[in-house]
Amino acid sequence: DLRPIRRALISVSDKTGLIEFARFLAERNVEILSTGGTCKAIRDAGIAVVEVADYTGFPEMLDGRVKTLHPKVHGGLLGIRGNAEHEGAMAEHGIQPIDLLVVNLYPFEATVAKGADYETCVENIDIGGPAMIRAASKNHDSVSVVVDVEDYAVVMEEMSAHAGATTLALRKKLAATAYARTGAYDAAISQWFAKELGDTFPRRVVVAGELKQSLRYGENPHQAAAFYVTGDKRPGIATARQLQGKELSYNNLNDTDAAFELAAEFDEPTVAIIKHANPCGVASGADMVSAYKAALACDPVSAFGGIIALNRKLDGATAAEISKLFTEVVIAPEADEDAVAAFAAKKNLRLLVTGGMPDVSAGGMTLRAVSGGYLFQTKDNGRVRLEELKVVTKRAPTEQELKDLLFAFRVCKHVKSNAIIYVKDGVTVGIGAGQMSRVDSSRIAAWKSQEAATAAGQAQPGTVGSVVASDAFFPFADGLLAAAAAGATAIIQPGGSMRDAEVIAAADEKGLAMVFTGMRHFRH
Ligand code: 5GP
Repeated sequence: DLRPIRRALISVSDKTGLIEFARFLAERNVEILSTGGTCKAIRDAGIAVVEVADYTGFPEMLDGRVKTLHPKVHGGLLGIRGNAEHEGAMAEHGIQPIDLLVVNLYPFEATVAKGADYETCVENIDIGGPAMIRAASKNHDSVSVVVDVEDYAVVMEEMSAHAGATTLALRKKLAATAYARTGAYDAAISQWFAKELGDTFPRRVVVAGELKQSLRYGENPHQAAAFYVTGDKRPGIATARQLQGKELSYNNLNDTDAAFELAAEFDEPTVAIIKHANPCGVASGADMVSAYKAALACDPVSAFGGIIALNRKLDGATAAEISKLFTEVVIAPEADEDAVAAFAAKKNLRLLVTGGMPDVSAGGMTLRAVSGGYLFQTKDNGRVRLEELKVVTKRAPTEQELKDLLFAFRVCKHVKSNAIIYVKDGVTVGIGAGQMSRVDSSRIAAWKSQEAATAAGQAQPGTVGSVVASDAFFPFADGLLAAAAAGATAIIQPGGSMRDAEVIAAADEKGLAMVFTGMRHFRH
């Protein structure tokens, strides 16, 4: 299954590594065919090369829309070697076999990402490139196809090891990569059209991604897993740089993403500590150290082995404080030298920096797999503003209560439903997450707050004098009464229950202030 490479066609927009690869081929007596710009680059480097137009006898034309779309090119890629009929036809028409195709496409995705105008985007739809890639991949039995600059190395390796030939195993692998590339390319074009049309959910969708990391296992050791990225370059888990520590696991990646997205909700210095995708402490403070200490105090037991996200540069003092606890991952936009030094002894702790914070108001899609399909939805980028709150009780919240109510509701968005969040002075003091009944979440949040207070030797739990947020409406007054019993003084919730009147009456009776948001933040 070894196939020697005698003739290559190279046509690349990204010319990274081109010359080195072309020189390697030329040194092994491979004849190189090439298109306009690529040909010039190769020739300028003093490497022998034949222009495709000279081979086909047909000029490149129509602004490059037609360069390689010619039977002498496609015949050379598609003809089956060792098939007498194919070889006869090729000889008759002067078609020479092409054994290696090296193509990377017009940068359509990058052109769209740059915000180019409609015409420029259209002109960056490559036609001949994908046609050649698909032809060469179909004929993988004879032809090697390279669509990623990173794959030059493996081709050179095999050619060196096998006297200028590649193995069938490699050619199949390259073909699989190649079809994924043309698929992703067309997906990008389709998505761009859908966006142009304002069509959020088109009739067909293709999800494309590139392997970033093979993971040791998934949520559990008996599950295989991998991390694929979309190519979105904005700050976040996919683009984070790891400064130290062990390899990130599947659960680390998921939890770190949740932590960082939560920290990004706030303008003031804020720290979020996450366990199993739910926060066990979130706090804003005057500086990072005080925010971290406050976040930790919410539920220090659960914070053990957690993920910590900061929305400011990680400094030495905060890193030293974090070092006192076993932590899996720390993620921040930046980390200063002192912070890096403080973590140096913690070999296993993974430190990630992103260069910035995610834009919480940005749109986008979320995607989840279900049996036989995917559920798509637009991202929950909803943010209730102060002026949108509706006071429904006799007593209106104080200014501090309002501030805390908004903080609590923002945290809610990042907590699995049913979510109940107690907050005092910009710090979560009790979090009830993921319960099947809202009243249980209320009770659990209060109970956890009591536990933390007892452990810290405090006379009363943090919930006394706090405010409370609920991610969805209280269907009955019981959840609200549980919050009142825990000492909450004000409540934020979407409203909209059949029993709103009953719930409001209960709040009034307890002297609580309550605001409705009109917006729900379920997270399942
Ligand atoms: P060059 O820089 O060599 O002039 O152009 C290289 C680019 O042209 C590559 O990205 C390749 O995929 C693309 N290409 C090659 N043949 C054709 C063709 O026939 N039509 C179009 N639209 N693009 C082509």
